[in-house]
Amino acid sequence: MSRTEPPSAHLARAMVHHKVKILCTMGPAVASTDRIIALVKAGATAFRLNMSHGDHATHAGMISMIRKAEEKLDVHLPIIVDLQGPKIRVADFTHVDAIPLVAGTDIRIVDAGVAKSVTFKPTETVIPVTYPSIARDVKKGHLLLFDDGLIKVQVRETDGTSVRAIVVHGGLLKPRKGLNLPDTQVSQPSMTAKDRADAKFAVQNGADYIALSFVRKAADVEALRRQILRCGGSQWVIAKVEKPEALQNIEAIVDAADAIMVARGDLGVEIPAASVPIVQKRIIHLCNAKAKPVITATQMLESMIHNARPTRAEASDVANAVLDGTDVVMLSAETSVGAYPTEAVHTMRTICEQAEEVLLNDGRLNEHYEPPKGGHRSNTESIAVAVAQIAEEKRLSAIISLSYSGETTRLISNQRPRAPIVSVTTDLGVARRIGLLWGVTGMLIETLHSTDETIDHIKTTMLREKLFPAGATVVFTIGRPLVGRARTNMLSIESLEK
Ligand code: PEP
Repeated sequence: MSRTEPPSAHLARAMVHHKVKILCTMGPAVASTDRIIALVKAGATAFRLNMSHGDHATHAGMISMIRKAEEKLDVHLPIIVDLQGPKIRVADFTHVDAIPLVAGTDIRIVDAGVAKSVTFKPTETVIPVTYPSIARDVKKGHLLLFDDGLIKVQVRETDGTSVRAIVVHGGLLKPRKGLNLPDTQVSQPSMTAKDRADAKFAVQNGADYIALSFVRKAADVEALRRQILRCGGSQWVIAKVEKPEALQNIEAIVDAADAIMVARGDLGVEIPAASVPIVQKRIIHLCNAKAKPVITATQMLESMIHNARPTRAEASDVANAVLDGTDVVMLSAETSVGAYPTEAVHTMRTICEQAEEVLLNDGRLNEHYEPPKGGHRSNTESIAVAVAQIAEEKRLSAIISLSYSGETTRLISNQRPRAPIVSVTTDLGVARRIGLLWGVTGMLIETLHSTDETIDHIKTTMLREKLFPAGATVVFTIGRPLVGRARTNMLSIESLEK
């Protein structure tokens, strides 16, 4: 949106009015610039690279396709690199393709490294896993869940080297399947060597967010932030909530992270599926209260991996996440490997729009917002609250926020105003990053002059790009003096005159 009238101005105009954002996972089904363009035209806002799959060369290729699509469409597209975290998996089997696990029988589970140096009885069923301290961490009675919880075993005993367990629910176990330990305090570090290398890759390749899987405590988020700084980056950190331990520490994790993902895939294995909807609502509510963006993820339109239409239950799930107050809804396999990626995005956008209508028509701003204890808001926060109220009361056409870091914009977005929020910045990274927030579009300007000159320049650009009609009334938030990078300290109601 920074040049003269772009060929796709209508797209920019449509994107300005999106409230909830759609995050698409990249994969072979959408791996071309043209397919990414089709997704954005269907309503996609941001893209996720899942580091559990693929190598750096493939991911770098995807990043360059997204950046080309961004250039061609003249929009900003946030990229999220999602680190695998200390995910535990079944290791490769030596002589067989799969191992049948029969309910009521005993099996032995051992770290793959240890398995090489220990001899077991030939009659025993031995499952190698990628978890060096498994035999020290698990205790008698703990549940171990393989393959998304489809196969369940319970620990009978551990001798410090291997674990003997009884199969509760059997099935055919294949290598590389996930292993979840909902009862166990896992002693593995929150970031693996692969995560550190992947974070470095993300920084070097200009990702906008880095997400960490299996976060357990706020210190895990801080560890990733330090790694990003060491690599010379300033990416925002997303904490993926998918462990019972994370739920115990959720307030501190939300405080420490820049954004939260309700990662319902692993979460629904680690806690009973029946608890997931309640936990989702609790986390979204908490993020809304603390002004942190939140992503609702996984299986949102799962059946659209194979079908061109969603189920009624899936449509309800997406709509309910929007009504709960999520900033972002995510597609995983639906876009990465699905047969109908563009249809899935279009379906999701249509469901979001109908649910947003309900939210906006009830006329209330964010009712979960919690002012700081004692009522001492920062000036920025007071202006964010006030500007949303003014925009609502006067039915203004837009809120235009001049933002160095995206901080003011985040606080305005949290108020959930009806008016589109345009976040104007000189930093391309901020312009992209901010696009993940509810109701926000990033806009890049080259330089800042005096406050008046900058406001005039933005107004002219908006009219030229036909983002809003001539004569529309908008409100600006600004930190004056602009060139001194002052914190937001004023607001100004202006008319977009020709
Ligand atoms: C999840 O578990 O829901 C999730 C989003 O993580 P991943 O896709 O990495 O398993």
